[in-house]
Amino acid sequence: MSSLTLQGLRKGFGGQDVVKSVSLEVADGELVCLLGPSGSGKSTILRMIGGFEAPDGGAVLIDGADMTRVPPEKRPTGMVFQSHALWSHMDVAGNIAFGLRLRGMTRADIAQKVDEVLVLVGLEGYGKRRVWQLSGGQQQRVALARSLALEPKILLLDEPFASLDQHLRERLREELRDIQQRLGITTVFVTHGQDEALALADRIVVLKDGAIEQADTPARIYRQPATRFVAGFIGTMN
Ligand code: ADP
Ligand code: MG
Repeated sequence: MSSLTLQGLRKGFGGQDVVKSVSLEVADGELVCLLGPSGSGKSTILRMIGGFEAPDGGAVLIDGADMTRVPPEKRPTGMVFQSHALWSHMDVAGNIAFGLRLRGMTRADIAQKVDEVLVLVGLEGYGKRRVWQLSGGQQQRVALARSLALEPKILLLDEPFASLDQHLRERLREELRDIQQRLGITTVFVTHGQDEALALADRIVVLKDGAIEQADTPARIYRQPATRFVAGFIGTMN
């Protein structure tokens, strides 16, 4: 049971506000998509949730506990990036085991956990493969498995499928949704693709210039856009 609360989060770079007092409640087991054009502050918000960026103001709470000054490795969050996140000199199992070893897990427990998450992402038996032998889609599955192995309370994904072709993107989207629902893991998914957000989200948070334009269910965002910006953005096919 994990909820995420953002209270008036703010962040500026070089005198420019890129995140302007963002407040949001993500319920236990909910999948929220942060949707907005490039530069709207999506990644910055996600990095503040994960602890990779310190806010200038506001707070990040997980299950009501203030995480704002807690370093990333001590937060119950797991992050998946668009690409280049795996260690290419290690095999698949090594990539997943790395974080588990840091936590002092036994070899046997690690082996079991690695197998378990590989099954979860549809890569059973791929432990000994080298990262460079894998397709882009398989690499993103491994990145997801590596995050899930650490059993985060909150899963954070920053355009994880953006570098894949459309067909694969849609397939991985379905798989992610299935895994997310099976685990019931509270998830924040960043995307600039409205089709992706509409297909995935329990709730969509539309961002413009670092501020929330509208936060609502996909159906209501689609049928009752609150602003011209939302209407225009949702109406555009990518
Ligand atoms: P998005 O993920 O929606 O594309 P970002 O959060 O990456 O947006 O960036 C929002 C704005 O903040 C952009 O104008 C970007 O150039 C700026 N920005 C992000 N990170 C940094 C940084 N580390 N230093 C300076 N500017 C940054
Ligand atoms: Mg981004």
